[in-house]
Amino acid sequence: MIPRCLFVGLFSLALCAQERPLILEAARLLDVRTGKMEAPARLWVQHGRIQAGTPPADAETLDLGDRTLLPGLIDCHTHLLIPAGIGELGYLKRSQGDLILAGVVNARKVLEAGFTTVRDVGASAEFGDVALRDAIARGDIAGPRMLVAGPALSITGGHGDLNGFPPHVHTHAENIVDSPDAARHTVREWRKRGVDLIKIHATGGVLSNHDDPGAPSFSPVEFKAIVEEANRRGMDVCAHAHGDVGILEATWAGVRSIEHGSLLSPATAKEMKARGTFLVPTLYALESILLPGNPYQVPEGSLAKARAILPLRRRGFQVALEAGVPIAYGTDIGVFEHAQVAADFRYLVSYGMTPLQAIQSATLVAAELLRLGGEIGSLDPGHRADIIAVEGDPLKDISTLERVRFVMKDGKVVRKAVG
Ligand SMILES: [Zn+2]
Repeated sequence: MIPRCLFVGLFSLALCAQERPLILEAARLLDVRTGKMEAPARLWVQHGRIQAGTPPADAETLDLGDRTLLPGLIDCHTHLLIPAGIGELGYLKRSQGDLILAGVVNARKVLEAGFTTVRDVGASAEFGDVALRDAIARGDIAGPRMLVAGPALSITGGHGDLNGFPPHVHTHAENIVDSPDAARHTVREWRKRGVDLIKIHATGGVLSNHDDPGAPSFSPVEFKAIVEEANRRGMDVCAHAHGDVGILEATWAGVRSIEHGSLLSPATAKEMKARGTFLVPTLYALESILLPGNPYQVPEGSLAKARAILPLRRRGFQVALEAGVPIAYGTDIGVFEHAQVAADFRYLVSYGMTPLQAIQSATLVAAELLRLGGEIGSLDPGHRADIIAVEGDPLKDISTLERVRFVMKDGKVVRKAVG
């Protein structure tokens, strides 16, 4: 018998709490640790978690047919509150309310694509990401479990500043810090506003004016102050960084992950590996900036930077892979359309990962980066019942992860595409 909750819409998620035990059956289940395919697949869930042993006699059964079960996916670099293609001037035309409503819509798209957890790293001011996280956690709206960073910390003129405007145009810039003391104050302020982690811009960026992606931003003493203060408040730091010096200095300061990592050298990769620093590569974002016809309306200056970096970053990624740096899945959605959150799998494989490594990056490795390895990232008994199903065998065709047919989060069915 199929549980009633499968037939009610997303507006009634609260009704779908799996109070009765539910057995999930499918043709296959991928053990993401070993790469072994179990066939047939059978597991059971109750109280939002995967259960051990034999299911009780009153359990309902949901047969998902010729599909493969996998853990819910994790994106470690999202911008749910940034509309794709907002462009250089978009922020000056959007209210905070606009951006938060965009976040509500994007959160559902990402969940329905099979991503049950995200780390959202850089929303604009007003901490709408904190509010979105909490509304999802309460069950008020549909979306992935979120860890949020608030606005990313930047130097004056850095990737997180609004550059290139005449002096009489004043921009809101409470995320700008230019000294160790200011950095400590801002980290404390962000913690007070409810963030889970701190994001910094350790180098210049692509989608910003008058800064160099290759150049480091903060001084070493500022990097250290940010990480030390964040750690004292129980938070990790993630660092946007393209250039090698910024990657190295942020790594030395103790950041948890490097985002993008485009121009990574072998010596710096060795340092990351030794310190256990993760790389979150965001491969498709840069490709999407250079799509024919410029659908995201990227300004010419940023297109030029993307053209310069793109050929170098494949090597940077391979350097990390060869050095054994832990690589966690991250997309930078917001740069491109949120519904395409699974696009990076194809690029991870075409840049040199095996399909299993790519899947592990979005499950086991991502869960470890988020320090949630005991809760999510694999289908172990006791873990949260975050489960997806895809057609066919994702180890043979990685693009099947772009067509997720079934999504369960915390034991609740949120998507079941029939056929
Ligand atoms: Zn980003």
